[in-house]
Amino acid sequence: MTTPQEVLKQIRDKNIQMIDLKFIDMPGIWQHLTVFHNQIDESSFTDGVPFDGSSIRGWKAINESDMAMVLDPNTAWIDPFMQEPTLSIICSIKEPRTGEWYNRCPRVIAQKAIDYLVSTGVGDTAFFGPEAEFFIFDDVRFDQNSHEGYYHVDSVEGRWNSGKAEGPNLGYKPRYKEGYFPVSPTDTLQDMRTEMLLTMANCGVPIEKHHHEVATGGQCELGFRFGKLIEAADWLMTYKYVIKNVGKKYGKSVTFMPKPVFQDNGSGMHTHQSIWKDGQPLFAGDKYAGLSETALYYIGGILKHAPALLAITNPTTNSYKRLVPGYEAPVNLAYSQGNRSASIRIPLSGTNPKAKRLEFRCPDATSNPYLAFAAMLCAGLDGIKNKIDPGEPLDKNIYELSPEELAKVPSTPGSLELALEALENDHAFLTEPGVFTEDFIETWISYKLDNEVNPMRLRPHPYEFSLYYDC
Ligand code: GLN
Ligand code: MG
Ligand code: MG
Ligand code: MG
Repeated sequence: MTTPQEVLKQIRDKNIQMIDLKFIDMPGIWQHLTVFHNQIDESSFTDGVPFDGSSIRGWKAINESDMAMVLDPNTAWIDPFMQEPTLSIICSIKEPRTGEWYNRCPRVIAQKAIDYLVSTGVGDTAFFGPEAEFFIFDDVRFDQNSHEGYYHVDSVEGRWNSGKAEGPNLGYKPRYKEGYFPVSPTDTLQDMRTEMLLTMANCGVPIEKHHHEVATGGQCELGFRFGKLIEAADWLMTYKYVIKNVGKKYGKSVTFMPKPVFQDNGSGMHTHQSIWKDGQPLFAGDKYAGLSETALYYIGGILKHAPALLAITNPTTNSYKRLVPGYEAPVNLAYSQGNRSASIRIPLSGTNPKAKRLEFRCPDATSNPYLAFAAMLCAGLDGIKNKIDPGEPLDKNIYELSPEELAKVPSTPGSLELALEALENDHAFLTEPGVFTEDFIETWISYKLDNEVNPMRLRPHPYEFSLYYDC
């Protein structure tokens, strides 16, 4: 833990000129305000620094727009992408008039999820370990004005072809699905990934590894250690920020969108999770796959609420183009040890009870990590509270089940619209514990419908030209 006094001392000692205050908006993008160092004092860590919240997506109306960013002293690091010495600090949002935490601030919602965990008596710490995959492209040109609204993408690994619908070979490229993971020169992204990883270490992220991923067009993943709920969400935001900015330095463009390329693997954000109490892990036991009864109920809660949960963990129209069979992304709501085709996998973690955890494979990195982690914790705790039986594990390759067997396994929602409908009908597990407010759920659903589902539905799709132009 770092104190405000230590941060202020660091500012003086290192002759920091500027302080960059970062906070997360509702859809999950970092916003920022940069202030001269003399604007920060001890009150900035309690009352906050004022700003205009009226134009932040999903937040305040113009007539009630004064808000305050409250600095979290544990999140200070020198921003490696700014020319002048600049200290970056992550903030949570308060209402300056009442002095209360703002109930639409995702970081505040995350704190409420932890408070709820403690209040249940079940545990005191929830650990999360997200694995966000991404693509690196040479450039992305987006013509917003064309009626197609279409991305034209060139892969960094040579002109990409699907392998299924091969065009002429216009240059060297790794073969279809052979990106995972031969050494250089097939892997052309080694140095860039190393720079990304080492840069995020300088920003306080406990780095572990990096590698190429399965998709051919420059798909990668970097790894950092699991952390406490808010800490892990802060690291994930730093992860995305560093990856995108290092990519830009190399003249590349990075995307975390779940399915940028048709007929190849999409990008997920598998999320490892476990609950602890008094320094002891609660998920290890003598049940299936070395899990405890608590862990099985937690799984029961996630599976039961999954359709609604996905409106938060997979919150874009593109998310559902990833959740299709055949690309290592989960389609069916089931759990299994070591089975990557189940939406919940119990990793083989050896004999150490501290490593016992589950991996929920549905989420993707278009989710807001504070909301996604908070919502998963609420679903799991609902399972524990109501002793929700997760049913039998599914230790088979789900993609190869017979139609009869498959019919018995519930599936993930087929679209954002369906997931939002599920959330509309099933959100007491989020609101009754006081973690998410009704106001937030309503705002979330209408924001997603008005800004994403409906605009998408109204546009002619490029593929419709192929299907229907000659009708
Ligand atoms: N890209 C896959 C997904 O969409 C995961 C691949 C992997 O990490 N094994 O979830
Ligand atoms: Mg991984
Ligand atoms: Mg992966
Ligand atoms: Mg994984």
